[in-house]
Amino acid sequence: MSFADKVVWITGASSGIGEALALEFSRYGARVVLSARREEALEAVRQKLVWPENHLVVPLDVTEPEQFKPALDKVLAHYSKVDVLVNNSGISQRSLVRDTSLAVDRRVMDVNYFGPVALTKTVMPHFAQRSAGQVVVISSLVGELPTPYRSAYCASKHALHGWFEALRAEEYERGLRVTMVLPGFVHTNVSVNAVTADGSAHGQMDRYQEKGMPADECAARIVRAVQQEKEQVIIAGREGLGIYLKRLFPSLYRKIIRRIKVT
Ligand code: NDP
Repeated sequence: MSFADKVVWITGASSGIGEALALEFSRYGARVVLSARREEALEAVRQKLVWPENHLVVPLDVTEPEQFKPALDKVLAHYSKVDVLVNNSGISQRSLVRDTSLAVDRRVMDVNYFGPVALTKTVMPHFAQRSAGQVVVISSLVGELPTPYRSAYCASKHALHGWFEALRAEEYERGLRVTMVLPGFVHTNVSVNAVTADGSAHGQMDRYQEKGMPADECAARIVRAVQQEKEQVIIAGREGLGIYLKRLFPSLYRKIIRRIKVT
């Protein structure tokens, strides 16, 4: 497997799965563009990569689309191309629908859905010009499995599937590839950073997150799927069986999910 001289742009590269992806891609020779809001954290990640001087930090907030074109210009000025865009930035949620403010619903959609949509639209003309490009979307099992206590998060991930599946169908003949990734529980700070009903941070490492797959293992499997240009990949432990349960026995899935403790 080689990504020699491929330019891979990763959002949410300052921690968790994004950081692990940056490291894994750098092992296979990629030039990595690291984006997220916290520039210092991105710099610290860059220093851990193989050949740190080969990689570029481009801070951006995915809820501020006016930052995207200048960011793309910076990447193109440095490398003259983008081969792979990994839409990984995201925030989760821990709160009941009845308690959650609409502002929180909107915020989660802004980060998890409109961010990837707007950034992808920004890079698309470049991909079209080259008749090539790959967009990787870090969705979640909850992109197919509605789960209590994370209604806005589920909705945002479901929305990604609709939009990016349509994009794939539209642009396939013009060389664009879309890889949807559905991780299960991965040991990162995603639950710590999750928003609650009033928008404050959950601040806790949840039980299932704690026992989740190591981020480096998840990243290694994502990179393999990207290399194989897979259209969709599930990266999970036993919780991944929920996908098949819901497809084959939807009523049973709904009964189980009503009772299950999901944090
Ligand atoms: P982390 O909380 O560790 O990482 C989230 C990343 O998103 C950080 O790098 C953060 O960087 C970035 N981010 C958050 N808000 C913004 C923003 N407004 N603009 C730019 N970047 C932003 O969690 P994970 O690594 O686990 O999450 C990565 C992705 O994986 C998410 O999309 C998540 O939904 C998905 N996922 C995670 C699972 C898990 O169990 N861990 C399971 C399924 C999916 P910064 O704060 O510097 O901006």
